[in-house]
Formats: sequence, structure tokens, C-alpha cells
Amino acid sequence: MIERFIDPDKIDADSGCIQMDHIFSGEKVRDGKILHGFELAETGRVEKEGVEVAGICEDRMGIHAIVEGISDDSAQAIESLFSEIISRMRGVEYRFRKENVLIAVSDESLDSFTPECVGKILFKAIKSIRAVRKVRIRIICDRDEFEEAKRRAEEVHAERERRSRDLKDEDVQEFYICESCKVYLPYHACIITPERPSPCGTLYGEAKSAVELEVVGYYSSAEKGEVIDREKGEYRKINEEIERRTESRVKRIRIHSILEHPPLTGNFAQAIVFYIPEKDGFGIVDRSFKGKTPLGLRFDEMEKFILGTQAEGFAGISFAYMKSGGFLRGEGGWKRVVWVSPGIYEFIRTFLPEKILKNISTEGRRSS
Ligand code: SF4
Repeated sequence: MIERFIDPDKIDADSGCIQMDHIFSGEKVRDGKILHGFELAETGRVEKEGVEVAGICEDRMGIHAIVEGISDDSAQAIESLFSEIISRMRGVEYRFRKENVLIAVSDESLDSFTPECVGKILFKAIKSIRAVRKVRIRIICDRDEFEEAKRRAEEVHAERERRSRDLKDEDVQEFYICESCKVYLPYHACIITPERPSPCGTLYGEAKSAVELEVVGYYSSAEKGEVIDREKGEYRKINEEIERRTESRVKRIRIHSILEHPPLTGNFAQAIVFYIPEKDGFGIVDRSFKGKTPLGLRFDEMEKFILGTQAEGFAGISFAYMKSGGFLRGEGGWKRVVWVSPGIYEFIRTFLPEKILKNISTEGRRSS
């Protein structure tokens, strides 16, 4: 996800202590050493910039970065870069994230993959982001300090998840607009709000970080202005922005609606929600489902005619939006959903109550 708003190509991390290249990303390391790790980037004051190493890295390596000059949302974005950057090192495989990191280092790369080298590379990468003022990197190998810092990382990550879940559209003054798909869809713009991640899954915090870190240019902030309809998610200044950015082809957007003035759909929608007139309800199909929906259309057939346009009765959505409290809020939410593709059914059964699920049918399972 990070590569959608921080282009690692634009980040110069090479420090000459280990061979680095994109071709090594995705490399599988079968023989060698496994290090347990964690990752944590936080915002804070940095007295003295640089890299510190605590202990000797035998079977563990935690990475803790303090970054000055950015918000905590941006610190999260920077934290995601650790895996991007370390995966580019020759003979190094970075698996999993947060407190569950495993770093596999091949026998040939063991001499060059030193904590000092990792620290130096990450320091250089983070410093190359314009918004960053100062950085301190601590590579933690000492057993006691590792356990303590890992616990702290768990707490910080849990708090970030909670904050992101709790943030509502009304809690913020501005939303974010992404126009990345404009290169293919000239009149397209996605609106990203705390309760409405983009169709491709970009979260509000990620869009905010992208703007703050200034690494890519296709995200921008947009003031909400006066509320026209809170439930459906319509705001005066957002309408004005969308009109300007679509050259007047779209004049109104209701963020949590499908039937009237729905949001536009960009190139990478994870799923499409569609209205089924006979049921006066909604269906949702995900990209991996190749069969026909109750409308008699497949995902790719629907996508073709809704891309980059406002198609009433249809909208591209993400899995993250399905979990949002704002999901189709203006039109009855999950109570109006009558059919989903099997992949979506597997997903929603992890968080929806049985009394809602029983009304939703899928391939091979009828509603009761
Ligand atoms: S679908 Fe929307 S948010 Fe995703 S890249 Fe395209 S314009 Fe940006």
C-alpha cells in the first residue's frame, strides 16, 4: 500500500555497505540466519541525529526510529518503508510487519548485513523525505531492551489502530482527494474520508501522510465546508472541488450513497457495490470473482462502464470501507445488502452479526 503514496524509487537509500536493488525485492532466502524483529517509527524531538546500536545482533534486531517534523500518521507511513527498503538488500528477506517481523539473511550476506549498515541505510532513506527535519535510528539487539521496546511497539500499534477505527467524518475539517487515476481517466477524482477509504483501499491517514510528506503529487486536501447531508455524506466545498476537478462533469457527490450522486470509481477498485432493483437491495462483487452477479454482469463488465464516471446504482469500494461505520450509511447500510460474492462473504462473516448475515446470499449459500 505504501508504494501508492511514497514511491520508494524516489528514495535514495543506498549507502554502499550492502548491495541494493529492486531486483532483490521478493527474493526468497532459504538458507541462512533468521532474526526476530519489530518495527516502530514515532514522531518526537530528536536531540542528536544519527544511528545507535544496542547489543550484539545474534537472533534479534528491532528497529526504532524517532522522526522530527512529521505527524504520527506520517510516522506510520515511514514505518512501512522499513520493509520496502530492507527487502531491496541482496540476500535479505523481510517477512511480516510490526511486532512479528522475521528477517532472513543468506549466508553470503551475513557479513554485510550489519546493524550499523541497516541503520545507516534507513537513516539516509528517511532523511531524504523533504518533510523530515531530524532522525534518530536505534537498532536494538540487546535481549532485555528488545523485549521492552517490542512491548512499546505493540502498544503504539494498538493505539493507532483504535484511533483510525474511531475517527469519524465529522471529526475532521478536511478530506483528501486523489487524482492518481487521472492519467487514464481524465475526469476522475476519489474523495477519501475517515469513514470512506478509497475504492483501492487508501485510508484517510495514508492520504494525509502523502500530502504531508510531499513525496507524490496526486493527493491534496479539500475543505469540507457546510454539511448538506451528514448521513449521505454531502458537503458544499467538496461538491465545488469535485466540480472543478472533473471540469463540471460531476457536480455533487454523496460519499455514503450509491443511488444518488455516488462517488466516482478509479482504476483499482477492490469491489463494486450495485443496486438490484427487483430486491430493492444491494449486491457486492469483488475483483477475484469471475462469475455473474444477480444483475447478469461480471465484475469486469460492470467496471468497464463505471470507470471514471458517476454511475448511479454502482460504485467501486474497498474492503476497508465494508468495515467502516459509514458503509452505505445514507441508504440503510448492511441491512440493504442481499447478495455478495464468496470472497466477500468470507470477509464479512468475521465482523458482521448473524442477524445481518442471514439475509445475505452468496454462491452456494442462500439467505434464510
Ligand atoms: S482509485 Fe482513487 S485513490 Fe486509488 S489510485 Fe485511483 S484515484 Fe487514487
